[in-house]
Amino acid sequence: MGCGRLQLTLALIKPDIHGHPRLYRHLVDTVLQNRLLFVRSRVLRWSQKDSGHFYAEHEGRFFYNRLVGFMASGQMSAHILAGEHAIRRWRELMGPTKTFRAQFTHRNSIRGQFGLTDTRNCTHGADSEDSARREIAIFFPEFDAKTWWKEHSEFFKE
Ligand code: ADP
Repeated sequence: MGCGRLQLTLALIKPDIHGHPRLYRHLVDTVLQNRLLFVRSRVLRWSQKDSGHFYAEHEGRFFYNRLVGFMASGQMSAHILAGEHAIRRWRELMGPTKTFRAQFTHRNSIRGQFGLTDTRNCTHGADSEDSARREIAIFFPEFDAKTWWKEHSEFFKE
């Protein structure tokens, strides 16, 4: 593989598509075909409180209550992904935040193909190394990134 920056990122498969096995399968294939690796995965359901806390930066925006309710409306899954420029690449695969924009400008992205509304937009991805670290710790508090890289960075050299 090339010599890009190796990163971990945090991805969420939101409740709108979590319950759809074929879509889910397609998403997993998309990730793997793009040479991102699933490092850890778990299925969970958020309370309104967890959801509100995670999206606290959006408190007061017109979509906040809708977003918090949606994210607590059913099961979802959280994943640590690894790969070269994993943070940027997962966000590229997701497409723009707003589904209605994604459908025009990034039709092949996950949100462009499967998003239902600007809120029900399929996925989440950390947007910086700091947020990736913080979000990984929220969902996988026992995960030790340093040890993981020690044991797995060889994998990316082939
Ligand atoms: P992203 O998920 O792309 O990082 P943001 O952090 O800005 O985007 O927003 C968090 C989530 O809030 C979005 O993924 C989407 O579900 C919802 N959201 C953001 N902007 C809007 C909007 N204008 N209208 C409705 N929902 C929105």
